[in-house]
Amino acid sequence: MTAIRLPTAVPTPGTVLGAAPHRAEDAAAYRAGGGYGSATGPEELLAHLAASGLRGRGGAAFPAAVKLRSVRDRGGGPVVVANGEEGEPGSAKDRWLLRARPHLVLDGLARAAAVTGAVRGYVYLSDPVAGARVRAALAEHPPPLPVEVVETGHAYVAGEETAVVRRIDGGPALPTAKPPRPFERGVGGAPTLVSNVETLARIALTAARPRLRDAVAHGTLVTLSGAGAAPVLTEVPSGTTLRALARRHGVPDAAGALMGGLFGGLVDARALDLPLEPDALAAAGTALGCGAVRFLGPGECPVGTAADAAAHLAAEGARQCGVCVSGTAAVADALRALTSGRADPDTGDHLLRWSRGLPGRGACGLLDAAAGLAGSLLRAFPGPVRAHLTAPCPVCAATAPADGTRRLTVPVPETAPALAPPAYATPPASPAGNPLPVPKGTP
Ligand code: SF4
Repeated sequence: MTAIRLPTAVPTPGTVLGAAPHRAEDAAAYRAGGGYGSATGPEELLAHLAASGLRGRGGAAFPAAVKLRSVRDRGGGPVVVANGEEGEPGSAKDRWLLRARPHLVLDGLARAAAVTGAVRGYVYLSDPVAGARVRAALAEHPPPLPVEVVETGHAYVAGEETAVVRRIDGGPALPTAKPPRPFERGVGGAPTLVSNVETLARIALTAARPRLRDAVAHGTLVTLSGAGAAPVLTEVPSGTTLRALARRHGVPDAAGALMGGLFGGLVDARALDLPLEPDALAAAGTALGCGAVRFLGPGECPVGTAADAAAHLAAEGARQCGVCVSGTAAVADALRALTSGRADPDTGDHLLRWSRGLPGRGACGLLDAAAGLAGSLLRAFPGPVRAHLTAPCPVCAATAPADGTRRLTVPVPETAPALAPPAYATPPASPAGNPLPVPKGTP
């Protein structure tokens, strides 16, 4: 089970985890914490978001204010979408957020609607527990615009923004070629903001407490796993180093990490001194993506981890683009051959060629992830790759290949439903139509 670790460096009102992350928050608790207030108007909020530099948390780290402005400036009855479909197997934050703090996300969606002038909204998800909590939250506190919950099947590519639009419009949850991007033509042809649910939560927190805007913008939810330690969902300031995270995860001697879910590829131990900042990570050839980091323990094999990840990608491909079907399968097969000690001597050359030639050739980022995985393995762990070409790897031999996806998958942390209101909160009417008296001494 995934544990939740409360942050230590950010004041609780400025965190997405909040003070009670193990229980679903109802509307009363959310309002008591400052939610659904109207102190910050749309223009002022947009200015705060621009000043704080809030980046999107779905993976691309695009500036939130720029995205909001792009949709607003196109006019034409925009649409806003809270995207809670979490395709990365190592990430649990979006489903946790929808289950535990649905009002925070819905408040952020309403704020984004106010900024963009949107006329309707959607919450897009695949997790049935999250769906039930969001529907209950919508009934408890109806938003200022019509909001519909749209469910989809869980899949790696189902949360890609064009797949989101296609599914809401009644089609399959599969990516389409770009342009147009959703901000140009999205749901029903209208300009559409597709925003990750954590991004929306941070927009709501900024609106409620503009003085904490920088802490809100520079905090991030991370899902930590790997190295035999129990998975953890926590929240840290963005300058935190990977090494500090590894220590907090109980892996002080981590040999590297699989970054961004599967999207950021592999890094070795030298990269552990990098801060969790999009630009620093990009300069080092990696990415935090959705905030999922899987550490490699000192005894783990990076080739085996890459093979697990590539096999997952090959199985999850949407089979729309021929180059993706053949390219992802080729990367996965080559890595699997390395782990079994039966790789062709040219395998390293093939992987290098694919890592350079495949990116950008599919309709979505899945093919890029497979290519990035191959390239990052060669860059970060050239010695182990060479060793796998000359002799079978004892670690890989002892690891069941069929368990690859299970090894990468992180469960959602437990969150109990919101407490039912005590019976005395709404006293039943007396036969005469008057409220029954509350007994003295009732707390
Ligand atoms: S790149 Fe791959 S996963 Fe993405 S749309 Fe094309 S076939 Fe599907």
